[in-house]
Amino acid sequence: MKIYTKVKDLQKDLMAYSKFGKSIGFVPTMGYLHEGHQKLLNEARKENDIVVLSIFVNPLQFGPNEDLDTYPRDFARDEQVAKVSGVDYIFYPSVEEMYPKTPCVKVFVTGKSDVLCGSKRPGHFDGVVTVVTKLFHIVQPTRAYFGLKDAQQAAIIDSLVADFNFPIEIVKVDIVRESDGLAKSSRNVYLTEEERQEAPLIYKGLKQLKESVAKGQMNPFDLKQALCTFYETNLHGQIDYVEILSYPDLKPISTLIGQTALVAVAYKYSKARLIDNVLIQGGKETK
Ligand code: AMP
Repeated sequence: MKIYTKVKDLQKDLMAYSKFGKSIGFVPTMGYLHEGHQKLLNEARKENDIVVLSIFVNPLQFGPNEDLDTYPRDFARDEQVAKVSGVDYIFYPSVEEMYPKTPCVKVFVTGKSDVLCGSKRPGHFDGVVTVVTKLFHIVQPTRAYFGLKDAQQAAIIDSLVADFNFPIEIVKVDIVRESDGLAKSSRNVYLTEEERQEAPLIYKGLKQLKESVAKGQMNPFDLKQALCTFYETNLHGQIDYVEILSYPDLKPISTLIGQTALVAVAYKYSKARLIDNVLIQGGKETK
């Protein structure tokens, strides 16, 4: 496994592989790797000749009052996880390497970003598509792997690739959870002991919603009300949003019948904002 901190060095090595027709699987992350990231890496390992992992806490996608400075980082540990996951190259650039000067050209999201995290974190997805565009140009992968934990991000990346004609296959990977149902996240370390104990109820609420749908409840308004009531009654943090939208278009819907619907939650604890979701296909869960 090789570690690169410079764009030019990585590109030079990867170009040699592309020339020989080898496929490159790419997993972009912000590090502090867990089993969710590892699932993406495993998928990439299965489907490609070379696996490239990037670790970069991208300042552009953090708002002024967000957790850029305190975002958990542990490169030595990540290196070990990458090694056991069969990574060939880690790209671990500095902020200066990725953004050496004020850019003359920027990438902006013009759709799918006025809802969910996009509406709560202004500029977040502009930062995401900017860094992903740069990383795609640097790595030039055959396939890139994104988790459905960030379902809105995955939908926006699909549009980025389609709108800008990136010759890259986007592979979406299901959410990996702790045994008690909590979605794995680098930010789970911010939770207090009490918060960690009750946080699995976020997914429990989503599962109950799915059961209501299976019993025939197809009205998104009523489903959302019931989910909010469950959270208000059982959790001690704060709902940031609960939304039911079409997927991947992220538009409001009046029924779940015949739709692929995303039920997405953002929940705020004292130091952690957690997100989770389920996808429901035509009244049935997709995974
Ligand atoms: P991050 O390091 O949080 O930017 O995440 C990097 C990638 O890993 C993104 O595509 C995420 O959606 C994905 N990811 C994060 N957590 C999970 C999880 N629990 N299950 C599956 N994918 C995940």
